[in-house]
Amino acid sequence: ENVHLDELVDDAVRKMKLVAKQHTLRLEANEPGIIYADPATMRQMMRIFLENAVKYTPEGGHITVASRRLPEKEAMQLTFSDDGIGIAEEDQGKIFERFYRADSSRTKKAGSVGGTGLGLSIASWIAEQHDIDIAVESEFDKGTKFILTIPLSHDGESHSDA
Ligand code: ATP
Repeated sequence: ENVHLDELVDDAVRKMKLVAKQHTLRLEANEPGIIYADPATMRQMMRIFLENAVKYTPEGGHITVASRRLPEKEAMQLTFSDDGIGIAEEDQGKIFERFYRADSSRTKKAGSVGGTGLGLSIASWIAEQHDIDIAVESEFDKGTKFILTIPLSHDGESHSDA
């Protein structure tokens, strides 16, 4: 169905703000855009990126979300940035695999509730279903940015299969 991406983004950030009290979570931009997607699944995908940003960013860190229309494409660019522990270059290609967890996430989060390493594999599966491209830019100990390119709905509001 056609959904307003900006409403989903707003919702996801607002909910995460309620739980991520030890971080500064900022919605830097949220431009309007209608996408063709299953809203519940999209919410789940956004939650995975936000929860990871919180999990892998020490207290007091910053998480920034931005959603902008790509001028040269019929697409939105949604980014999740953090200034957390980062992902070593050699791990960046593997984080989307099932059960994969970078060493740093194991050691730095030892003692806390461990992850399963499934989140990003679910996110990338959801992305695939929606023609969404995911890119990652990260530097170990500096931070991580996930860049999602989400196609706009071809027929805007006129679609009717709600
Ligand atoms: P779970 O699925 O239970 O949340 P997880 O967080 O380990 O567990 P994924 O979400 O699949 O699993 O993430 C895989 C790995 O990618 C993580 O273990 C972590 O090493 C790395 N990672 C993901 N997001 C970030 C981030 N924002 N900053 C640093 N590392 C990250």
